Amino acid sequence: MSTTTTRRLRRRALPVCLAAALVGTVVVLAPSASAGGGGHGNGPGNGHGHGHGHGKDARSVIFVNGDGMAAAHREAARLDQEGFDGQLAMDSLPIAGLQTTDARDPEDTITDSAASASAWATGVKTYNGAISVDLAGNPLPTIGGEAQQAGLATGLVTTAQVTDASPAAFFSNSVNRSAQDDIARQYLEVTKPQVILGGGEDWWLPAGDEGTYPPRAGDPEDPEVSRSTQGDLVARAQELGYEYVSTPEEFAAAEGDQLLGLFANEEMFQQRPEGQGDEFDPVVPLADMATRALEILSQDEDGFFLLIEEEAVDEMSHNNNGARMLESMRSLDAAVEVARAYVAEHPDTLLIVTGDHECGGLTIEDVDPTDESGPGGTLPQETAAEGTTESGEDGPFYVAGTDGGYDFALDWTTTGHTGAPTVVTAEGPGSRALTGYYPNTRLHEVVRDVLLG
Ligand SMILES: [Zn+2]
Repeated sequence: MSTTTTRRLRRRALPVCLAAALVGTVVVLAPSASAGGGGHGNGPGNGHGHGHGHGKDARSVIFVNGDGMAAAHREAARLDQEGFDGQLAMDSLPIAGLQTTDARDPEDTITDSAASASAWATGVKTYNGAISVDLAGNPLPTIGGEAQQAGLATGLVTTAQVTDASPAAFFSNSVNRSAQDDIARQYLEVTKPQVILGGGEDWWLPAGDEGTYPPRAGDPEDPEVSRSTQGDLVARAQELGYEYVSTPEEFAAAEGDQLLGLFANEEMFQQRPEGQGDEFDPVVPLADMATRALEILSQDEDGFFLLIEEEAVDEMSHNNNGARMLESMRSLDAAVEVARAYVAEHPDTLLIVTGDHECGGLTIEDVDPTDESGPGGTLPQETAAEGTTESGEDGPFYVAGTDGGYDFALDWTTTGHTGAPTVVTAEGPGSRALTGYYPNTRLHEVVRDVLLG
């Protein structure tokens, strides 16, 4: 987090009551004693567990999704960023558990982001591609929609399209995750998140209106052209009271408490294999989007729900691009730092950091180009098997703080998702119920209980 964002967060953060502030001190100094948020670690589904000891109901949740992130991504990032004795912000939360992610798809065991986010948003397992609809296609109540109806503020920030599967499942219903323009329309007309920041301008503007970000010249396979079939949804948002921004300068100057920011045609990065046009340099950092979202949403005294997502962990893993995956983990952990700073001052807020599924079948190995071979890596081939040209490994990467004395390789087994469980870390009210090994629907129960129980 930059000093600028720190200062802005502090200046605009709402005052907390003395009792809450004291609990916050305990959280910082003795996390083991306060894990679970003041000793009310009742299981999910218990609507009476929160509020005790705080002087007010616990009503806010910050839900952080590292899309495609499981244990190996987190551990590789720890070695890369913090070294042997260090710890990522996301790994420093006092509660940890493991989450299983299987979908209920007629054809697939392994989940996509739509089915897994639908399980979080609705508590119901469904098919791949479903945006918070059941197996028969019936719409289900979503956490984002229910929180809005209950008078809480809501928001989403992501480096994906703001209408991509994960945010979409929290704030819309669709039988098809590809209907991103209709998902955008639902944001404006149905679930009304106050803060919408990320990519995906192409889905808000009709064909021929290229907005701030022109098509990708010379890329016929991925031209990134405007394609809304719902009219000019940016104009519609402005009619409905949103301040619209699309550049870093406009974002920095934005004053509105209802904010739509679209900072790319599609994702805020380019997912490609190494050296084939891959880019990770979002024009507005995820941490800055998270900071602004918290400034706005925390003004609602009823509480809020905020989804923060780093999408590139998944997309770079699909491309078996270890270096860019690690860059996106830096982006994600910087956003978690913002959330942790907020929660330290607002202990009535539940913070969850997890991934919707594993991507890449990633593991961490010693650097040894001879131990395996397969397509798609960057390790030099010293003794490649006959007929192969590359190792299926990335690296070497260096362990931070060892002056290059220790290195490691990243080994991918697939360019798709896997069924490996994902790590859940958490802090604050209700978080104790996230200890253990459980299906992803548990997160729905815990979040719902904190927001609406
Ligand atoms: Zn994916």
